[in-house]
Amino acid sequence: MSEGCTICATPTDRHGGGLVFVYEGQKFFFCSLDCLKIFQAYPETYTTDEDCSLSAIEDTGV
Ligand SMILES: [Zn+2]
Repeated sequence: MSEGCTICATPTDRHGGGLVFVYEGQKFFFCSLDCLKIFQAYPETYTTDEDCSLSAIEDTGV
């Protein structure tokens, strides 16, 4: 299975110059340095396992 870019989902093997970045023990693949920079700016956005957080929002009715 080929790995796609974590940011834009471009298959990294297509370009033959994919980047690999290890963050908290996980490998992430990127098609370019620009995508890696985006990841480094907001790593939590791409590493969260929980699909969290709607629990804090409750519909109380109108
Ligand atoms: Zn990319």
